[in-house]
Amino acid sequence: MRHIFRCSKCSKYTMKEICDCGSRTIAPKPLKYSPGGKLGPYRRKAKISEYIGRGVL
Ligand SMILES: [Zn+2]
Repeated sequence: MRHIFRCSKCSKYTMKEICDCGSRTIAPKPLKYSPGGKLGPYRRKAKISEYIGRGVL
């Protein structure tokens, strides 16, 4: 798995530790499932769509 960094200034994702804009990048926290998290509702919705697509629901 490759490391991906995110610029703290322009929020651009890059593989480099220093962004093209010259700012230091930070490693975002790994995405993991958390119902209360920011991505919770979106991910749940995506999952439901997946089930619908498979004809499970
Ligand atoms: Zn930048």
